[in-house]
Amino acid sequence: MEHYAPDIIYIDEAAAPYPKTAEIVARLPGLPVARVKDKAEALAALQSSASRIDAGKQVLFLTTQRGRFFKKCPGTKGQICCNYYVVNFATNCHLDCSYCILQGYYENNPFITFFVNTDDLLAELDAVFSEDPTRLFRVGTGEFTDSLAMDDITEFSKIVVPFFANRSNATLELKTKSDMIANLLALDHRGRVSVAWSVNAPRRIASEEPKTATLDERLRAAARCQDAGYQIGFHFDPIFYYPGWETEYHGVIEQMFAVVRPENVSWISLGGFRYAPELKPIIRRRFPDSQILCGEFVTCADGKMRYLKPIRLEIYRSMLAKIHRYGRHIPVYLCMDSPQVWRQVYGWTPNCDRDLSHLFDPRLTI
Ligand code: SF4
Repeated sequence: MEHYAPDIIYIDEAAAPYPKTAEIVARLPGLPVARVKDKAEALAALQSSASRIDAGKQVLFLTTQRGRFFKKCPGTKGQICCNYYVVNFATNCHLDCSYCILQGYYENNPFITFFVNTDDLLAELDAVFSEDPTRLFRVGTGEFTDSLAMDDITEFSKIVVPFFANRSNATLELKTKSDMIANLLALDHRGRVSVAWSVNAPRRIASEEPKTATLDERLRAAARCQDAGYQIGFHFDPIFYYPGWETEYHGVIEQMFAVVRPENVSWISLGGFRYAPELKPIIRRRFPDSQILCGEFVTCADGKMRYLKPIRLEIYRSMLAKIHRYGRHIPVYLCMDSPQVWRQVYGWTPNCDRDLSHLFDPRLTI
């Protein structure tokens, strides 16, 4: 995988006094560092760039989170959501997958941003989890960035894993397409943390995710995390549909279970490729050779474009059947698809968060 190598670090006024800021600067010796008053001043420096998205990824912006770090996963209208909470510890990602939805979010906030006030983050989580000790929180950090791709620079895992290790009513998922696991191996996670890899067919990784770790590298990292006692998750997201898709994706499942034991799998999600219409011109402009927009798509209730329903059903049924050959009890869920599709794949529809918690509870009990 490509390690993050920014051209410059911007530090805003609020971030300057934090120890994390000095730590990160020290880990990137020789890099120019610019003090800025605020994000507006940093953005002004990008004004002459032909592509704000590309130029923004070359800037590591250290700032503080002034809003909330912790949110319920926004989900998407009309689709089943998996009762998940997200910790917004950083935004944007240098791995630059062609389909990444963050390209659409961050056209106006294009920096790779890390929030250095990590003590405030832990205090906020502590308050939320303590307020309702009987409730189980499934929490992830990979919604607005990759959970681990910059862990060599931020060492955020060393902060967040020990925190979750000591919580009885919360579990953490670190979701990644990297193999940046060195920090994790020595941490005492006490079974409260899953490390999850988004996986794809090797040809799709090469064409659409070329800066990420290869499938082999991801699976080697998964095997090492398994040996370190972590539960392992896998996300087939996005699954692309093309001639020969089934053979290639089934091959990925075979490779996965050659290295990870079914009993160590926390969950697997399935999500067909989908995109917001606003993303289409961005993908066309930035990745003119990408084939992912070819094919027939339908507009769904949330405004996103998805493969036609029979195709999604074919994908999910085929993948589910293949995964279940390795164990009927491996939790498999559909990522952001409609109640109708859930019913046709599973024979039932989750009505509420509690239904989905049942899917996960056997693995992650309070
Ligand atoms: S790894 Fe995830 S967050 Fe990073 S560019 Fe790819 S899709 Fe976006």
